[in-house]
Amino acid sequence: MEQNYNIPKTMRAMILDTPGEPLQLKYVPVPVPGDEQLLIRVAACGVCRTDLHIVDGELTHPKLPLIIGHEIVGTVAGMGKNVKQFSLGERVGVPWLGYTDGTCRYCKKNMENLCENAEFTGYTIDGGYAEYTVADQRYCFKLPGVYRDTEAAPLLCAGLIGYRSYRMTGDNIEKLGIYGFGGAAHIIAQIAIHQGKKVYAFTKPGDMNGQQFALKLGAVWAGSSNDIPPEKLDAAIIFAPVGALVPAALKAVDKGGVVVCGGIHMSDIPSFKYDLLWEERVIRSVANLTRRDGEELLEIAPKVPVKTEVQVFTLEQANDALDNLRSGNIEGAAVLAIGV
Ligand SMILES: [Zn+2]
Ligand SMILES: [Zn+2]
Repeated sequence: MEQNYNIPKTMRAMILDTPGEPLQLKYVPVPVPGDEQLLIRVAACGVCRTDLHIVDGELTHPKLPLIIGHEIVGTVAGMGKNVKQFSLGERVGVPWLGYTDGTCRYCKKNMENLCENAEFTGYTIDGGYAEYTVADQRYCFKLPGVYRDTEAAPLLCAGLIGYRSYRMTGDNIEKLGIYGFGGAAHIIAQIAIHQGKKVYAFTKPGDMNGQQFALKLGAVWAGSSNDIPPEKLDAAIIFAPVGALVPAALKAVDKGGVVVCGGIHMSDIPSFKYDLLWEERVIRSVANLTRRDGEELLEIAPKVPVKTEVQVFTLEQANDALDNLRSGNIEGAAVLAIGV
């Protein structure tokens, strides 16, 4: 392994031993990179709703014990012998998609997000709630220089999967509803507005701070998730993990409108009349990301320019950050500043 300075033998990490219980601060061995892997000194790691679903046991079969975290920004501190496209000391971003086989029927159809043998950072392989991590170079991104480490972190999942959800709404939309105005929404709203679309923000009933935040970012309307917006929408993205929002969003979209479920987990969707789906309305989900989504988003973000609103916590405060996200007390995105 090539390395650029003394790497310690152990590191601090927040470990998930048992879903349903808080993460525990432990000293664990610094991982050693494989031939295709980078050893990354973690500067910042975003806190995503998916992390909550893993910690709370709603996403089953995580690797255990596990280091969660899949919005990792850091610098290359070492590398395996096959690494060519990154150099020591270079800043790098690590997303949720950590590995694909490249050979299954989905990979062959350019649908690597659905790969049958995919690995996911901070879920089936260790992630970034730690001082160091390893990641397969082929799934890492170079990051735009304009962003500080903590600002870049939310781009790596909230941004990427948000962008994929936004892309799935189609090319010909003017009026876009966004349900759940957190990390992903605040990034995607900026891109949509930059591209001339009108954004309608739906928050939890009574969340006036969230509605003010959306209006400040340029949404033309903000209201409660059970409100009917003043105009019919062309499409809606649901980022909140609440199944009851699916029929609510179907009511808000016009004929031919698309409702995209952008999260990895959602509570059950209540039954609804066929009338809500009639006239070619579409419901679809979005799973994971492709590397192309990442490249596109990271190219567009500095042009808008997308500004990420972050609330910063320390590594040791990871459980507080997760609790705040769970109770809706985060404006924008939560990020752990680890080695910045
Ligand atoms: Zn595959
Ligand atoms: Zn995520």
